[in-house]
Amino acid sequence: MTQPEDQCVLAVDVGGTTIKGAVVGEDGRRRHTLTVPSRADDDPVKAVRSLCVQLRDDALDLGATPAAIGVVTPGLVDETNGVVRYAANLRFRNVPLRALVGDDLGLPVAVGHDARAAGVAEAVAGAARGLDNFLLLPLGTGIAAAVVVHGEPVPGATGSAGEVGHMPVHPGGEPCSCGQRGCLEVYASAGGLARRYARLGGTPGSDSRAIADAVATDPVAAVVWNDATQALGTALATLTLTLDPARIVLGGGLADAGELFFDPVRDALRAALAWRTPPPVLRSAFGAQAAQIGAAVLARRLAGLSVPDGWGAPEPEEG
Ligand SMILES: [Zn+2]
Repeated sequence: MTQPEDQCVLAVDVGGTTIKGAVVGEDGRRRHTLTVPSRADDDPVKAVRSLCVQLRDDALDLGATPAAIGVVTPGLVDETNGVVRYAANLRFRNVPLRALVGDDLGLPVAVGHDARAAGVAEAVAGAARGLDNFLLLPLGTGIAAAVVVHGEPVPGATGSAGEVGHMPVHPGGEPCSCGQRGCLEVYASAGGLARRYARLGGTPGSDSRAIADAVATDPVAAVVWNDATQALGTALATLTLTLDPARIVLGGGLADAGELFFDPVRDALRAALAWRTPPPVLRSAFGAQAAQIGAAVLARRLAGLSVPDGWGAPEPEEG
């Protein structure tokens, strides 16, 4: 079988705020990117479908031939059937994404879960390169983990494995959007941190970066930061005792704060694991791009293209 020299895959990361598409070349480099707001259209499914079509057309304009497309979303994702069962932030319920996008594009479609796909990217070329057993937790609007066991992200019986954001860390604590109280993401997601900071008297509208910058001087920032890192350390201790990962990789807004974030998280984890050595806790190599590169890897695998070790490794940060 001969393959055209300029073969690419399309990779789409559907988030609650933006839909991020990329044309990813044979060498793992993004040759073109396209981002639209998730709510650009009244119908978010339509917004995803139009972005996919546009991305395919853009790839052809570049002279590249798409071999497959990978689309990843948050929520309950049935990867086997290519259906997003439920994604609250996207208002998706039983969306047959593989069939819809496949009909539109005439390409093989890999549908995946965003955090699990991010785990795939970290294993191929990121902070968990070469590891078969590790955890990846992107700490964004919410928190979901990729639980990678024997080299594969575990989907679970219903496609909802890794929804650790709703792990209770403070029973009876503050209310969560899921209807429970005291969930991890109330305290330790970037979104939860910002909401708590504003509610406890901090400057409204501050994001996790602004809060991190204020920790040394603003007592409210110090309190919510400490609560976030303690809650995360507690949750990571439970996960470590359950899964014994070789490494824990953290990404998202909070991880961008570097040692200010990682030092107290590592301390809290160590303090909760009296009898065993905690696994190393590292920062994600891909940051916000992990899910998209993971989608590209899923697309390549579906198309029968090789994914060599290190494929899609992060490009040096711009600016
Ligand atoms: Zn919850």
